[in-house]
Amino acid sequence: SVPIRAAAHTATVASVPVDTRHWIGGARVASGGWFADHSPVDGSLLAEVARGGALEAEAAVAAAGAAFPGWAATSRDERAAVLHRVADGVERRLAELANVETWDNGALLRSHLRGVMPRVVHNFRFFADRLTELAHADFDTREHTNHVSWDPAGPCVLITPWNAPLMLATWKVAPALAAGNTVILKPAEWSPLTASLLADIAAEAGLPPGVLNVVQGYGEEIGAALVAHPGVRRISFTGSVPTARRIAAAASTNLVPTSFELGGKSPLLVFADADLDLAVDLAVEQYDNAGQVCLAGTRLLVESSVAAEFTDRFVARASTLRQGDPRDAATDVGPSIHPDHVARVDGFVRRAIADGAEAVLGGGPNTDLGGLYYRPTLLTGLRPGAEALTEEIFGPVLTLQTFDSEDEAVDLANSTRFGLAAVVATGDRRRADRVTGRLVAGTVWVNCFFVRDLRAPFGGSRQSGIGREGGDWSFDFYCDLKNTVTAP
Ligand code: NAD
Repeated sequence: SVPIRAAAHTATVASVPVDTRHWIGGARVASGGWFADHSPVDGSLLAEVARGGALEAEAAVAAAGAAFPGWAATSRDERAAVLHRVADGVERRLAELANVETWDNGALLRSHLRGVMPRVVHNFRFFADRLTELAHADFDTREHTNHVSWDPAGPCVLITPWNAPLMLATWKVAPALAAGNTVILKPAEWSPLTASLLADIAAEAGLPPGVLNVVQGYGEEIGAALVAHPGVRRISFTGSVPTARRIAAAASTNLVPTSFELGGKSPLLVFADADLDLAVDLAVEQYDNAGQVCLAGTRLLVESSVAAEFTDRFVARASTLRQGDPRDAATDVGPSIHPDHVARVDGFVRRAIADGAEAVLGGGPNTDLGGLYYRPTLLTGLRPGAEALTEEIFGPVLTLQTFDSEDEAVDLANSTRFGLAAVVATGDRRRADRVTGRLVAGTVWVNCFFVRDLRAPFGGSRQSGIGREGGDWSFDFYCDLKNTVTAP
């Protein structure tokens, strides 16, 4: 059995107490070991967090398995009511969640307050409402009726990254719970704290013990144990391609359905007929969250005839971005998540420059602010096939290439093994239709960026993912669809 510590292991972050143990079967559970969680804001030690392994994976899957029949038997209305109460709890604690998240992952406090945490609330309300509207498809003939139902599937393992921790976690937790499943959530070890607060909020909202379990620890330890567990019926993962390969291999042993939302190397195409002010704004937006956004259009592809003007205006505009403490409302670009990540990002930039590229903006860490703040960077003059054009950097680093024709633009846009998103800036609707029809991407934005309607499918093509979540596609993934054929 799992050892339970008598005294709560609590960290206080932004005056908010956060229990850093696991939440398994409705109880706080410690592990034999702990891992250190540092803040990207100033490098300080925020918390020591329970370091789970095979033992805790076993306990969490057992708790989720035990709670499943009861939760699956609840009515849709009952589940929707609980999810709305979870949303109420998130709303009540919105400022606390925003502050803790900013300390933990370094993204801007104003984004957390205005955009990210309201989206967390929306994730719960949207899937609660969608559940009650989920329509049964019935195909009837004179002889037989076919009745299609979305049955709960069982315990779901949800594994999430650090760049938008609570938003990405609840994007999975909400539909999985709405569907009548039980959940084991494992947040990323670089940003583990808000998931623990979510467990408190869900318990206060009346979610029965074992329905939502939150476990902490390293991916290679408890993560690997969870995805290999035969008691699991769904695995949904957001993260990198190499991790997805490992999870796919583990899931194949038990033939567990997986949903993968992975990395990207998305293009942002600027045609000469575009509103250049808008195009520049869209391009500068790609530095949001210090570039740590899977969907970011990091490859700027600009029509040659406007490339010089676009580059001048982009550099002028991006140079006004204020980099600094993410809690300061005036800050535009905050820190990167971790020193190891900064070193990785800088490695790409250093190798690109050594290979002949030019950093016309930025090109290294902001030394005034310490090593964690990487300056918004634009690389030009990269040779075709260069690493910076093909690998996901996941930092505030954009590249710029030019094209002379629509065909060349589409070819460049699609010349990647990823297919998560694309952004197109053009003033010509017919061109927009032609180009978007040929782009390989799960989401294409025309003259806008980051607009999300939760009814729409979300995911990536090629190596950016497998499957789609969002709207009814989430229920298709998290449920076992059943067709019942009845004779007259
Ligand atoms: P990562 O793959 O390193 O880790 C993601 C999660 O997987 C973490 O919780 C980690 O602990 C866990 N993990 C690691 N190894 C594991 C294993 N063997 N078994 C089970 N779990 C394991 O990714 P990251 O660095 O945290 O996140 C950045 C990546 O996420 C980028 O590639 C980014 O594009 C991608 N991302 C994609 C989306 C999307 O919706 N498509 C959204 C955000 C981020």
